[in-house]
This record gives sequence, C-alpha cells and structure tokens, in this order.
Amino acid sequence: MSIANNIKKLTSQIPETVTLVAVSKTKPNEAILEAYHAGQRVFGENKVQELVQKYEDLPKDIEWHLIGHLQTNKVKYIAPFVNLIHAIDSLKLLKEINKQALKNNRTIPCLLQVKIAQEESKFGLSYDEAEHLLNSEELKRLTNINIVGLMGMSTNTSNKEQIKKEFRSLHHFYQKLSMLNPQLSTLSMGMSGDYQIAIQEGSTMIRVGSTIFGDRNYI
Ligand SMILES: *Cc1c(COP(=O)(O)O)cnc(C)c1O
Repeated sequence: MSIANNIKKLTSQIPETVTLVAVSKTKPNEAILEAYHAGQRVFGENKVQELVQKYEDLPKDIEWHLIGHLQTNKVKYIAPFVNLIHAIDSLKLLKEINKQALKNNRTIPCLLQVKIAQEESKFGLSYDEAEHLLNSEELKRLTNINIVGLMGMSTNTSNKEQIKKEFRSLHHFYQKLSMLNPQLSTLSMGMSGDYQIAIQEGSTMIRVGSTIFGDRNYI
C-alpha cells in the first residue's frame, strides 16, 4: 500500500478526537510530502538535527512534534518553531525550554513522559515524580511553557494484556491529574504495534511510524 493510502486508512479507523502524529524519522522529504498531500499535517521526529532540517525544507503549515529524548543543549534549535515536545523528564529541561521560548516570544506546549514500561532503558518520570513536578512552585514560575498532557510508551512485548494494563494505568493517572489541572488535554500513547489498545484505553494522540511509512532501516 502507498503512504497516501496508509494515511487515509488510519484516519478513517481512528476516532476524530484522536490526533495522528505521523512519525517520519529516518524517512526522506518525498515520503513526508506524500503523506502531506494525503492531508496529513502533524509529523513527529525524534532527533533535533533531522527535525530542524525537515522544518526548513518542507511546507510551513506542517505541525512539528519532537517525540524523542531532548538534550538541554539542543533546545535552542527547535524553540523557534516546534509545536509540541513529547518527552519531558526533568525540571532542568523545562527551565531551558522556558528560557528559549521567552527568547522567541512564544509559549511552548510540552508533555511529561511517564515511565510505564517494565524495561530499564526507557526514559521517563515515575508517577510520583510527574505529579510532584506538575504541582511544583518552580513550574508555576515558568511562564513560557505549558504542560498540556502526558506521554508514555508501553513495554515492547507481544503480551497484549500487559500493554493494556500499562496504558490503563497511565490513563487513570492522567484523569486524576486532570481534576486539579484543567489545562491537561493530551494523552500521547500508542505506536504502530499498540495504537488500537491505546485508543481503547483513552489515548488522545497516537504516534505512528512504520504502519504509515514502512519499516525503518535504522532507529
Ligand atoms: C519511532 C517512535 C514511534 C513510532 O514507532 P512505530 O512503531 O514505527 O510506529 C513512536 N514514538 C516514539 C517515541 C518513537 O521514537
């Protein structure tokens, strides 16, 4: 199937309330343009340099999300244009984003990454750390960032019950936080292998790469 057909099929399958982020990492501009011409406007990248290059090369009405781990010293490159940063895991990073957002006279929306997988290697905050950060006095002083939700990645497993349990737990946590934090509107969970489960469990934003663009040669 073509990229355009994959986009059309996916958008017809998912509820209108769920945002599709087309994860275009490692894929060439031509592939992104094919998705763009099929109507897709939200794209996700996981490397800063690649994101900046694609932003410069491609149509300016694309909404760019950084979905991967972000190093403090690279925030300045994406601060002028990035629409959403998915993987915040420290106050230090938020402070730098706030500083660069100020310089660019913008407010940058961010998601806190919560660790729900059992693997050791995945980045993210524990539930306690995320709640603490969200309610901290220091965060209130950061006038040019807006925490609009949470992001999580499930364990890389074929055990669907396990994945479901992890997404359900993150959704419960998101609902609990939302009661005191009405600015939360986004729960980013679900990728090619598990977006259907994620949507069943309350996801509002899915990040889908290989189902749209085909397999990647490298990560
Ligand atoms: C690569 C990536 C995705 C998309 O993965 P697919 O399995 O190709 O859909 C989603 N989220 C993050 C954080 C990624 O790095």
